[in-house]
Amino acid sequence: MADHFDLIVLGGGPGGYVAAIRAAQLKLKVALVERVHLGGICLNWGCIPTKSLLRSAEVYHEMQNAEAYGLTSFKPDFDLDRIIARSREVAARLASGVKTLLRKNKVEVISGVGQLTSNHQMLVTTAEGEEKAFEAKDIIIATGARARQLPNVRADGKHIWTYHHALKPPEMPKKLLVIGSGAIGVEFASFYADFGAEVSIVEHAPQILPMEDAEVSAYVAKAFAKRGIRILTQSALQNLTPDDEGVTAEISGADGKVVKERFSHAIVAIGVVANVEDIGLDKLGVELNRGFIAVDGFGRTNVKMCGRSGMSLVHLALPIRPAIRV
Ligand SMILES: Cc1cc2nc3c(=O)[nH]c(=O)nc-3n(C[C@H](O)[C@H](O)[C@H](O)COP(=O)(O)OP(=O)(O)OC[C@H]3O[C@@H](n4cnc5c(N)ncnc54)[C@H](O)[C@@H]3O)c2cc1C
Repeated sequence: MADHFDLIVLGGGPGGYVAAIRAAQLKLKVALVERVHLGGICLNWGCIPTKSLLRSAEVYHEMQNAEAYGLTSFKPDFDLDRIIARSREVAARLASGVKTLLRKNKVEVISGVGQLTSNHQMLVTTAEGEEKAFEAKDIIIATGARARQLPNVRADGKHIWTYHHALKPPEMPKKLLVIGSGAIGVEFASFYADFGAEVSIVEHAPQILPMEDAEVSAYVAKAFAKRGIRILTQSALQNLTPDDEGVTAEISGADGKVVKERFSHAIVAIGVVANVEDIGLDKLGVELNRGFIAVDGFGRTNVKMCGRSGMSLVHLALPIRPAIRV
């Protein structure tokens, strides 16, 4: 017999765990299914660890400019391994706080990969390969998103990185190409530039931070230029070829001319794709819209639950605000 809940939440990121806790506070019997890490991308590989890295960069910058504050000059140095270790510790501490919050609110955490088998059933496969079925009146899908990859070349963590690799780099890049200038791209550009990398940003749009107001973008662009970060707007990456030493990028500018340039590393920061595969959506007939789950104004899918509302989708589609030093 399958365990029965009022609500099952699939995915333990900020979308999922907050919804689970709130539902439990409203007296529902709630289970949360998570395959790798409570806290999702935000706490483990997103918002939190990036802010820790940026704080290290900020402190380093202040120390380099200590004389400006009347402090006796000295030459600061950095240890990349320790900067990363701190960022991982901060992420782990906050993620473990989520575990405590869920326990305190009596949300049952089920570890494993969840897949919908009907509009009120979920099959969970544990890391050991065991399968268990669960039932619920309502289900919230909060499976989040992952880094979008370039069409022709995969980020393998060697010389081409996604945010995941860039948060735990094997070495400090000497000459870095950041592809895409949304919040994630500019945060990494800022971090690596502060620690001495020669950074270029390539962006399709006429401005960096294309989702932000023109004034904000212009302000950041000016500050970046002052810090030696090269910005190539209205430019497109045509090709990226990795080899043992680094990557060769072919970049077309506003005039259409293609220029080839070598970089030691590249970070692909061209957005995210939703985690909608292999969770049973197709079998249930859940509609998608451009790769994301289609929902109504209440976040409900087209599939009805046990004669009630549709399955809900929680996805934090809020724009990310970069936390860079300008
Ligand atoms: C580098 C970076 C920096 C960022 N900085 C910020 C910031 O400063 N501010 C901000 O607001 N946002 C930031 N974001 C965005 C933020 O991380 C996301 O908006 C947020 O994580 C989305 O939450 P979510 O719960 O929808 O998905 P996620 O956090 O992606 O969580 C989804 C969870 O579902 C789990 N899951 C998926 N499929 C299954 C399955 N079949 N079975 C079980 N579990 C499953 C995943 O393992 C994951 O834990 C950043 C993102 C990145 C990558």
